[in-house]
Amino acid sequence: MIKAFCIGTKRDWLCSWILLATWTILSVRDCQAQVESAPGIKRFSKNQWTVLTDLPIDQEIESWPSILDQAMATWCQTWSIDPAVAKSWPLTIHCMGDRKIFEQAGLLDGVPSFEDGFQQADRVFLVEQPSNYYRRHLLLHEATHWIMYRAFGGGGAPWFMEGMAEMQGTHRLENNLLSLAIIPDAPESVPHWGRFKKLSDSIATNGVPKLKRILYYGNDRQDRMDRYCWSWAACVFLCNHPVYWPYVQKTSTPPLDYSLKLSEQLEKSLADRWDYVERDWKLFVDEFGWGYQLHSDLICLEESIRSIDSPLTRQLTMQLDATKGWQLVRFPFKQGQGAEITAQGTYVVHVRNQQAWESTPEGLTYQYHRHIPMGKLIGGFLSVDNEQPFEVFQVGTRHDFKASRDGWLLLKINETVGNRRDNSGSLKIQLQIQ
Ligand SMILES: [Zn+2]
Repeated sequence: MIKAFCIGTKRDWLCSWILLATWTILSVRDCQAQVESAPGIKRFSKNQWTVLTDLPIDQEIESWPSILDQAMATWCQTWSIDPAVAKSWPLTIHCMGDRKIFEQAGLLDGVPSFEDGFQQADRVFLVEQPSNYYRRHLLLHEATHWIMYRAFGGGGAPWFMEGMAEMQGTHRLENNLLSLAIIPDAPESVPHWGRFKKLSDSIATNGVPKLKRILYYGNDRQDRMDRYCWSWAACVFLCNHPVYWPYVQKTSTPPLDYSLKLSEQLEKSLADRWDYVERDWKLFVDEFGWGYQLHSDLICLEESIRSIDSPLTRQLTMQLDATKGWQLVRFPFKQGQGAEITAQGTYVVHVRNQQAWESTPEGLTYQYHRHIPMGKLIGGFLSVDNEQPFEVFQVGTRHDFKASRDGWLLLKINETVGNRRDNSGSLKIQLQIQ
């Protein structure tokens, strides 16, 4: 059974070291010297890993067996795979600078054409990438396909297979210690990765896809990278969501295949709360970016919305926390219904050199996000009708709001999710509902 996919968010370092040490003890075999296996192709093996490459074997490529040892130790622990069994699964990595050399050696016979990487049984193929990080990302991506094939019999539906591989591929390597399934803090830590840029470009062109659409993605090559990025976002969302994760866990119980069965079962099991799945997804996508914290930034609206009592008063007061994302106004708006929103208070939106930048609900014009001043109070309207997009608008100190449809109003301070970490304080919101 797949125990948990959401790894790497809260890492127990000591536990990681113990696991790695255990894995290394289990792995002690001779590291074979480099040999030429075909014209222009060097080969070296360590433990269960064999690398074939026409590129110079530098420190980075040489470190791959130990990178994969660490990844395997994590996968065994997370997915309850028996390490002794996993050690008996061999993997050959083809790292290709010049694809022709591998073709001439017959190593690509029977392998369908592919762009960057491919996994076939116990072989993975990687095309040279512009950064060490991104080549390692691809290695871990393809190795995830391989371990899922070996341990679970398949990768599940296309979104799950690619989303899981992207999750495991997105990694941090610090002092030779590997962390998988991270959300990067900044572009510099993941050169040439570009997933957040791809997502925002995709939203600008086509809007946010419904989660249900992602679940039924096929394998077609058109817009392949867009689909990979959305599949990754969907996996991050579902595999870390406190309410929906158990449903994913149940429907992804091995054996897996490569059909849409997993998607159909997941949709069926969540059928009576699917509207909330799509609503939480919209709010997740709205914030998902550099430095997103899975345990604190994910929003679950269902319980909050279901617990809204019939309003007895037309006056509402709430404290808005400057450290948090979208916060729900506990009032069910009807189409055309208006509200006068007023806000007061000061709060810290940035700390630099021990100096705190204080903001009012109008924000600070030193920095902008969504073309709106940092720290400004903004609103978001979530329609009951899931076909409608999440509408974001400026509020500031005072705003007359009118509901375009039946739905819910949410408020927050305008700032990127990663920059919110140093915020403190709150502001007082009053709503006079008409
Ligand atoms: Zn893949």
